[in-house]
Amino acid sequence: MSGRDLFPGVSEAEWRDWRWQQRHALRTPEAVARLVDLSDAERRGLALTAGAFRVAITPYYASLIDPHHPFCPVRMQAIPVAAEAEAAPGDLRDPLGEDRHRPCRAVVHKYPDRVLFLVTDTCAVYCRHCTRRRITGGEEGAFDRAAAEEGIAYVRAHPAVRDVLVSGGDPLVLGDERLGWLLRELRAIPHVEILRLATRAPVTCPMRVDDALARLLRGVKPLFVVTHFNHLKECTPEAQEACERLVDHGVPVENQTVLLRRVNSTARNIAALNQRLLAWRVRPYYLHQGDVAEGTGHWRTPLACGIEILEQLRGHTSGLAVPHLAVDLPGGGGKVTLQPEYRLGPAPGGTEFRNYRGERYLYPDPPEADCSCPYDEVFHAGPARRSVE
Ligand SMILES: *Cc1c(COP(=O)(O)O)cnc(C)c1O
Repeated sequence: MSGRDLFPGVSEAEWRDWRWQQRHALRTPEAVARLVDLSDAERRGLALTAGAFRVAITPYYASLIDPHHPFCPVRMQAIPVAAEAEAAPGDLRDPLGEDRHRPCRAVVHKYPDRVLFLVTDTCAVYCRHCTRRRITGGEEGAFDRAAAEEGIAYVRAHPAVRDVLVSGGDPLVLGDERLGWLLRELRAIPHVEILRLATRAPVTCPMRVDDALARLLRGVKPLFVVTHFNHLKECTPEAQEACERLVDHGVPVENQTVLLRRVNSTARNIAALNQRLLAWRVRPYYLHQGDVAEGTGHWRTPLACGIEILEQLRGHTSGLAVPHLAVDLPGGGGKVTLQPEYRLGPAPGGTEFRNYRGERYLYPDPPEADCSCPYDEVFHAGPARRSVE
């Protein structure tokens, strides 16, 4: 029996309608229990987290759940367990210290030339590992048009902002009209060079990515879609169609994976996922160390786990399949990246390295050390030609 059979009487047209998927998302313990033989931990998780963190699972994403295995990666990302109600040491309500960098409700401005732009507090599926659960929990309230207009005015007034990451919540819960208005407003700001749209729709509600949406996104180019696949089990024909539709329309797609303990926390999982995504022309971007969001302690891996995964990817598979391992520092420090150390140290005449096989090699010191570029004075001098401030 396929997961789809769990929803008898649903027409093909309904199933393929993203609004039907969102309207029929499973939101209560009873609805989830009708589909899955709930474990004791899940039963308690649903009860203990009710009111604190939202639950929603689209019928499509629910159809991927293995109803017989409590460690199914889709199931674990969608159904809370009792551990989600527990506070781990270091857990923070605002793990990335974003509220200190929020000049207005919609905008988080932490880095000099780019901002995060929040457009909604809702998602089609709520990830149990969500880092912005203080927002998707609903305490702050919804984002209305006034919040968006205030955010647009902020970006317009700040010429240093050349990159806007539209996020939430999941911006693709919005219809084309509202989303199109927002993206075109941002695109019309002369100093905004690139847009990014962070969405899990290709994973959780791939029917949202239809031709009309792909044309809309292409129409505000350059825009990169940044999605969030965590496991090969999410790589279905529907997900492939969504990703390829975007790329075929000229919209580049990047992927950010969150390292989730006991879901994808082995090199085998990350390699298989990233190789598949590359075959769909989706480029692995970040592999995120878990943030210290409330109730997510049970997801987090030791830092050494992520480094070991990179160690087993670099050199062994396509460099395009090797993501940056990012740690977003608690309290607002921003992202830093980690990688295995290949540099063993200085050696006579150069630097000694080990390669991915553990063999030693010397890279010789260059004959000269002055790295300034004499043509800079000419090329980057006039305002007309200046490409980087
Ligand atoms: C991650 C993040 C960005 C984007 O960072 P990149 O390294 O450019 O992908 C921007 N703003 C905030 C607040 C972020 O958390």
